[in-house]
Amino acid sequence: MLIQLCRVLAVVSCFSLIACKEYKVKEVKDFRLYVNSDDVELNAAVSELAAQYNKDVGANALTVVDNKAQANSNISFVKNLADDGGSKLGLGQWITTEQEKNNFSATGAQKQITVYHSMSLEFDTANFAGKLKGMTDKTSDEYKHLYHLFCHEVGHGMQLNHSDDKTNVMYKSIPDHYNRKIDFVGYFAYVRSYLKISAPVENKDVLI
Ligand SMILES: [Zn+2]
Repeated sequence: MLIQLCRVLAVVSCFSLIACKEYKVKEVKDFRLYVNSDDVELNAAVSELAAQYNKDVGANALTVVDNKAQANSNISFVKNLADDGGSKLGLGQWITTEQEKNNFSATGAQKQITVYHSMSLEFDTANFAGKLKGMTDKTSDEYKHLYHLFCHEVGHGMQLNHSDDKTNVMYKSIPDHYNRKIDFVGYFAYVRSYLKISAPVENKDVLI
């Protein structure tokens, strides 16, 4: 993740040094997620969590696709991810790829750089599958845990790092029992600004 961050920073500083009229930068943040699992319940849960996510963003931030060829991002379920370092329930990484193109016109050459954003997410199978029974009840601790975990890993996929604030979605531990407030309003405000969605929507359905 650090390598990706450095690369992004390097690209940003490089762009700022170059005269704007010679370079045009386009960013594409169209996340099309493919679930690498044949498990029907896991697939259905991801689709439901993504639908709730889009509802809370107020736009189609994530698209779950059935066909791997249509995807630019993936979700995998990994056995014993929890054992890697003791308590890892998920892993989220952002990925950027750049494409350069030279456009020639009467006014001269212009370089077009397109930055494509995508993400790679992993969830510990036992933890995720063990909480699926909560998917039918959005007030259950299991549902809150899965939605919080999903938002947290997608947050990494949208270039967020960990926060030391226990109320922040990006705090490094995801509780099993919800006896503290989680600031989903602030989280989705970030997501809208990251996706450049200008009209904020009111979040009435967020978990607190
Ligand atoms: Zn994390």
